[in-house]
Amino acid sequence: MLLEGKTGLIMGVANKRSIAWGIANAVNRQGARLVLTYQSERLGENVRELAPSLNNPILLPCDVSSDEQIQTLMARIGEQVGHLDFLVHALAFAPREALDGMYASTRRDDFKTALDISAFSLAATSNAALPLMKDRQSAIVTLTYLGSERVVQNYNVMGVAKAALEASVRYLANDLGPLGIRVNAISAGPIKTLASAAIGGISNMIKLHTERAPLRKAVDLDEVGDAAMFLVSPLSRGITGEVIYVDGGYNILGV
Ligand code: NAD
Repeated sequence: MLLEGKTGLIMGVANKRSIAWGIANAVNRQGARLVLTYQSERLGENVRELAPSLNNPILLPCDVSSDEQIQTLMARIGEQVGHLDFLVHALAFAPREALDGMYASTRRDDFKTALDISAFSLAATSNAALPLMKDRQSAIVTLTYLGSERVVQNYNVMGVAKAALEASVRYLANDLGPLGIRVNAISAGPIKTLASAAIGGISNMIKLHTERAPLRKAVDLDEVGDAAMFLVSPLSRGITGEVIYVDGGYNILGV
């Protein structure tokens, strides 16, 4: 198994449809031991229900809007495990009213929230995890979407946050490469989840994707999970700072 003896932190499981859950299953199949975080006690109940199907994961709370919670999380992982071989950042948030109408009308507070939770949190969690990850040939993976590069109706401020996230991947890859830490992003095609339900027209996006993407099918959790497993495994040891598309080829299309 590719991840036997490795321990990874997965942030972003809300329910069984979460991309983070697809990734948790894929890395669990390869023998990794997992720490899963949940944003709130309410979502923690979902995670506690799902956890028994994995190999004895550790469950801990962490709301990434709080530096204190991020520090406490890493301290508890330090005490309970002592190190991390990978970190999966599969979380994002923008207030619903910012995911509709014109991007031009985005409110300052909504912009700050979207960028804070969806982009800054990658730098904050990576930095806090450094003492646990350095000099272990470890890997960080985050989740992004094509709306960072192209205009996608209603994606609005989240597209701007994903552009910042992808730039962060490159800066972090350059910072952390000398410490033996790789940083990459997966740009996934549209999947129905709690977060994507907030984006008006997600069902149509999936339908369009199914009709037009070269592979003529919707992207599923296992496909994203397996790509993330590759990116945290030694098979991808020469890859850092990249955005890898898991979208059935949709991003290559022109007219
Ligand atoms: P999801 O709703 O299952 O997961 C989003 C997670 O973000 C939830 O677990 C939520 O608790 C967490 N989160 C939000 N605010 C947080 C905070 N302050 N602190 C801690 N956690 C917080 O939805 P998903 O679609 O699986 O989203 C996972 C990632 O995948 C996101 O970055 C999303 O932008 C990205 N993505 C999703 C799609 C898609 O179509 N679903 C496509 C490409 C990229």
